[in-house]
Amino acid sequence: MTLLSVEGLTRRFGGLVAVNDVSFTVSEGEILSVIGPNGAGKSTLFKLIGSFLPPSAGRVLFEGAVVSGLKPNQVARKGIVRTFQETTVFKEMTALQNVVVAHQLGVTASPLGTFFSSAAARADERRFRDSAAEILDYLGLGHVKDVEARNLPHGYLRALGIAIALAARPRLLLLDEPFAGMNPEETDRAVAMVEGIRKRGVTVLLVEHDMRAVMRISDRIVVISFGSKIAEGSPEAVRADPAVVEAYLGK
Ligand code: ADP
Ligand code: MG
Repeated sequence: MTLLSVEGLTRRFGGLVAVNDVSFTVSEGEILSVIGPNGAGKSTLFKLIGSFLPPSAGRVLFEGAVVSGLKPNQVARKGIVRTFQETTVFKEMTALQNVVVAHQLGVTASPLGTFFSSAAARADERRFRDSAAEILDYLGLGHVKDVEARNLPHGYLRALGIAIALAARPRLLLLDEPFAGMNPEETDRAVAMVEGIRKRGVTVLLVEHDMRAVMRISDRIVVISFGSKIAEGSPEAVRADPAVVEAYLGK
């Protein structure tokens, strides 16, 4: 089943076409990576999908309904959630508290307003704590759950950003360069993390500059260069595509 459709998406900045008539779909349960050299338009594409930026042309559909034009929080409520940067983590709170707060915000923002009786609130708090602890466990952060975010090493903070996003119960998780700046060991851990997330039923769309990291985990890969899609297919097909080789080597 198609979860996300990107149709003729285009974004201009003055005379520059950062994203040029890009179309692709993401199926439920898949890990799809968008790769491309620096400046190819990956982050812009991401912002268009999350509605952080309006398109110049084209549209984005989620479960068959147009989401372009909605506000980012409305898109998030439909289930498209991007990871949180380090700057959006509450530094004075522990890892666990950060994820609990993310749960609470998600529920308070939900149209189902069952959050008002104090007994229900207490029950919810327990549920949030359990569920937050579970998320931290399976992301390999269980042993640092009571550490204040400001004392966590960089790699753990990045993982905490993913935990916070998962607390919002995404259907589609957007990851912008999750492996950037990681050494091989950290990349291995992050790859396992993304695979674990998919196993739990979350579809993953990630953009990444480093082709090697995405080869291992992607079901399909979309390649963009200078804003345009130049290839799409299995990791093997994309790696062997002369246009892709040229885009990466011909700079
Ligand atoms: P990538 O993430 O693939 O490195 P980006 O999407 O960040 O690429 O950028 C694509 C192109 O659009 C680049 O040439 C960049 O300079 C330009 N660009 C991105 N954001 C803006 C902006 N807000 N204003 C003007 N130009 C931008
Ligand atoms: Mg980028």
